[in-house]
Amino acid sequence: MADIPYPPELLRDVAKRRTFGIISHPDAGKTTLTEKLLLFGGAIQLAGTVKARKSARHATSDWMEVEKQRGISVTSSVMQFEYQDHTINLLDTPGHQDFSEDTYRVLTAVDAAVMVIDAAKGVEAQTIKLLEVCRLRNTPIITFVNKMDREVRETFDLLQEIEEVLKIDCAPITWPIGMGKTFRGVYHLLEDRVLRFTAGEEKRSEGELIKGIANAQLDELFPLEVGKLREDVELIQGASSPFSLGDFLAGKQTPVFFGSGINNFGVQEILQALLDWAPPPQPRVAGVNDADTRLVQPAEAPFTGFVFKIQANMDPKHRDRIAFFRICSGRYTSGMKVRHVRMGREMKLANALTFMANERVLMEDGVAGDIIGIHNHGQLHIGDTLTEGENLGYKGIPYFSPELFSAARLRDPLKSKQLQKGLQELGEEGAIQVFEQEGGNMLLGAVGQLQFEVVAQRLKDEYKVDAIFESADIHTARWLTFPDELTRRNFEREQSMRIGKDVDGNPVYLASSRYNLEVTMEKWPKVGFHATREHG
Ligand code: GDP
Repeated sequence: MADIPYPPELLRDVAKRRTFGIISHPDAGKTTLTEKLLLFGGAIQLAGTVKARKSARHATSDWMEVEKQRGISVTSSVMQFEYQDHTINLLDTPGHQDFSEDTYRVLTAVDAAVMVIDAAKGVEAQTIKLLEVCRLRNTPIITFVNKMDREVRETFDLLQEIEEVLKIDCAPITWPIGMGKTFRGVYHLLEDRVLRFTAGEEKRSEGELIKGIANAQLDELFPLEVGKLREDVELIQGASSPFSLGDFLAGKQTPVFFGSGINNFGVQEILQALLDWAPPPQPRVAGVNDADTRLVQPAEAPFTGFVFKIQANMDPKHRDRIAFFRICSGRYTSGMKVRHVRMGREMKLANALTFMANERVLMEDGVAGDIIGIHNHGQLHIGDTLTEGENLGYKGIPYFSPELFSAARLRDPLKSKQLQKGLQELGEEGAIQVFEQEGGNMLLGAVGQLQFEVVAQRLKDEYKVDAIFESADIHTARWLTFPDELTRRNFEREQSMRIGKDVDGNPVYLASSRYNLEVTMEKWPKVGFHATREHG
């Protein structure tokens, strides 16, 4: 397609998009930063809009309570706002590790990430995991070291920890002056100016700027801190690598900013970095005709993209769900006809939604980088690709082998149809993994315990099914691939008791123990046993 010139309006519009997610360990300040970014972007007027769903990650009961207010939860999964002639798409990721699968999938739909670090705690467990996921696609990372208004760790120490633990070079862009009660502000290393810190939740207008690190005004204002600042800056300029846009875009180096989200301090700089440095929508690899792959350019005119998340809709009367779809190329127009590649058939896209901070509105115009919400009655699964005719499929949205298994049993055996339907739908939504065994047994697989609790509750609320989950004698699951039809049939005959089908009908080996898996793998060397499966 390289010989067809890209439509100039599309090129222009795509270049204005920034699509990113925020990653952090719970409590580092992701919700606060999200809110402040929206505030600075003019998308919300008041703090508190995003906060409402924050309790989600603390307990199932809270989670369910919040889920009941689906309006909030659906819309704040994706937030679009305009900032300085750019269109910013902020994709929310669940903070609780039990929902990490969802987070991984969301991260496949972003072009950059902002990593929030609690300056008192440094690099934490969930940060490490999420960064590993970003690394799979070399996603560029901007770092925000938060909570400088507290007694925190030494700055050099923190940077060293980020570099060593996360294996990414740090290029400090701002540098903190003091901390906690004596936090005075930050020095901008590239612009040679000090931005003075003032506490307060109000939206900051223009903070006070002091030009030049040698400025005598600094000696007057911060007599106790300025000496250390000058020493630090000399050290950094000698020791750390300067910011390199190329290394940042390659995911090798992260620009680091210091601030305090709750005090609106340092937030503007993050937005600026997103505009100036974070990449516009990137080309994406797609599989073509089962064998080849090709790089799809975002400004190619034909519309393409994939579903990365499915969420139950807010209206319980119509059990429709919203498929969150990342546009990878072309332009969305209402009423357009697209090809559902997995199903091999045409469908009409109309009334797609876009998501502002606290409402959903009909999408009028969307280009690569944007996320649209498509009403879905089960025809769209996670990982599905839609195109304007071409037979291609986007790769790289993983299912992970679950670590916890349980079998669903009904209190009322007459409800088995509902149970089946509920589990199938919740499985398609990615709330849990569902494997159907011979004889119709439904086996559930999860990464975190909370997933079971949420599914039990939702079965009750939405499908009127009272199910008990019993622990299942399963150690792990492996997706199966076969070299030929005969091997498949022989394997399925011998192992029928240990085989299940996932929601898309793919065969899975359900091993009772690590030993069981090893023995079976040895016996069937030609059969592929895969710990992850890519959707689509
Ligand atoms: P999340 O779990 O990562 O979304 O974190 P939150 O944004 O909910 O923040 C966790 C806690 O840290 C809340 O009590 C916030 O008020 C607090 N917090 C967030 N940013 C700051 C900050 O800059 N300074 C201080 N002192 N507290 C903060």
